[in-house]
Amino acid sequence: MGYNVAIDGPAGAGKSTIAKLVAEKKGYIYVDTGAMYRGLAIHFLDKGIQAEETEKVIEACKDADVKIQYENGTQQVYLNGTNITGRLRDEAVGKMTSKCSVIPKVREKLLDLQRDLARTQDVIMDGRDIGTCVLPGADVKVYLTASVETRAKRRYDELMAKGERCDLDEIARDIKERDFRDMNRETAPLKKAEDAVLIDSSDMTIEEVVEAIAGLCR
Ligand code: C5P
Repeated sequence: MGYNVAIDGPAGAGKSTIAKLVAEKKGYIYVDTGAMYRGLAIHFLDKGIQAEETEKVIEACKDADVKIQYENGTQQVYLNGTNITGRLRDEAVGKMTSKCSVIPKVREKLLDLQRDLARTQDVIMDGRDIGTCVLPGADVKVYLTASVETRAKRRYDELMAKGERCDLDEIARDIKERDFRDMNRETAPLKKAEDAVLIDSSDMTIEEVVEAIAGLCR
């Protein structure tokens, strides 16, 4: 059994940035489950399926093969053999992902894949339901959050740095909507596992959060 670290929390809390750095520091493999859900969403979008067409989404799950690979230390996501890493962070993909991940069959599709990755390797896995559902026996569980304002500002700065036009209020609205969907869905909603350590990164630097989490790990 691998050593397992679970990091859950809402969109924009910094989970992937932090998890990557802790993985480097500790020699764990970083598993980004959001990227897996995003990979499936790209499959549905490419088939012209709307998120509301649940039956079609379930049917389309059957011929989707999402794989995560590490090339030169960076994560690459393949959908049916095609590298789709460059498309994962598109806004349209994010919205489709958040809507489709409420469908139990979509979650079922990725559950075994996630558990398999953690079974034999030391992993730090981030997502929404890792500590509560995917790896309930994880050695370390963290619930990483930050205020909506902080998360919206981080996303705004990230988009501006990429030269993309955006609106801070719209980003904040989008984040609230996504939080609501993630926290209120019936299957595997986002919530803090009872035994997870709560870290609010609103007033912390990246280094401080990395130190805090690394300090919880062996
Ligand atoms: O973490 P990221 O923003 O890439 O996740 C995109 C969406 O995928 C989330 O808003 C959430 O709806 C879904 N997701 C999930 N369970 C996970 C990881 C992501 O439902 N373990």
